[in-house]
Amino acid sequence: MRVLLTGAAGFIGSHLAERLLARGHEVVGLDAFDPFYDPALKERNVARMLGRPGFTLARGDILDSALVARLARPSAPVDVCCHLAALAGVRPSVADPLRYHRVNVDGTLVLLEACRAAGVPRFVFASSSSVYGVRSHAPFREDDACDRPASPYGATKRAGEHFVHAYHHVYGLDATCLRFFTVYGPRQRPEMAIAKFARLIEAGAPVPLFGDLTSARDYTWIDDIVEGAARAVERPAGGFAVYNLGDARTTTLAELVRLLERALGKRAVVEPRAPQIGDVPLTCADIAAARRDLGYEPRVAIEEGIERYVRWVREAAA
Ligand code: NAD
Repeated sequence: MRVLLTGAAGFIGSHLAERLLARGHEVVGLDAFDPFYDPALKERNVARMLGRPGFTLARGDILDSALVARLARPSAPVDVCCHLAALAGVRPSVADPLRYHRVNVDGTLVLLEACRAAGVPRFVFASSSSVYGVRSHAPFREDDACDRPASPYGATKRAGEHFVHAYHHVYGLDATCLRFFTVYGPRQRPEMAIAKFARLIEAGAPVPLFGDLTSARDYTWIDDIVEGAARAVERPAGGFAVYNLGDARTTTLAELVRLLERALGKRAVVEPRAPQIGDVPLTCADIAAARRDLGYEPRVAIEEGIERYVRWVREAAA
């Protein structure tokens, strides 16, 4: 299978590219090496794939419709477009909503248009638990109403899902939206909580904890997410499908810090702060649909995942 994979140099994208190559697929990667975080980390992510048979990388912007059209061209048919490129993160989207909209919504439309024009039959879209907004009951199900996003980022991901559905409805595009729940593991984006907390605790620096320590997240180990995403890439939706990909368990902020302290063998210097706009108090995935249709099964619980992550951080620093 030939897969056009956007965001291939990013955290999840680089892991997914490796998994798809290992399963014998051809990967055409596209990434702009956006400076949202250090592009040198993204260079490192792709370095392990460059030169490998079956992998090609285009450096460019998903908003460049001529480039995207060239990559999706009918003369070298793409079987499925897996669209991960985006500006991620809730808090920065509050600071720059227009840029988030341009990349995450217009960018998704550029890809959908290119796929339509080139006859790419299938599309897999990286959505997010952020589409669920603020809610207090768990777990979150795919058919819950998602009409009240709590951040510009969540709104862009929901809009992306809507456009993907519209292209399914109008043009018969076979489409799957994957709602990822906080992903962690090697190469995690450096501004995300686990990467940031681990760095600060290791350095003995204060760890700012925003809001209530009982706020809880569903943290998903990277290999579990990648397995779910690879299965969605390989399996036609047979129409339009939405799946939560999470661990289906929650961890409070206080527990997360305790697990990191234990794995690092150091106490955190905690600095309580006011809640941040855009943050939600709870995420928790109902994964019954992904289990049923994709055979998705998360295997690494947070206690084990944090230990593995800390081992990776220390090996990478050595
Ligand atoms: P990431 O920032 O590491 O990866 C995104 C990649 O997209 C980056 O390499 C970046 O350079 C690229 N990119 C950004 N703008 C681009 C543009 N205009 N043109 C081309 N490439 C561009 O983030 P990630 O954590 O790997 O997230 C991947 C996807 O999963 C995103 O769509 C994100 O919204 C979604 N997601 C991630 C999480 C998570 O916990 N990491 C949770 C929910 C959803």
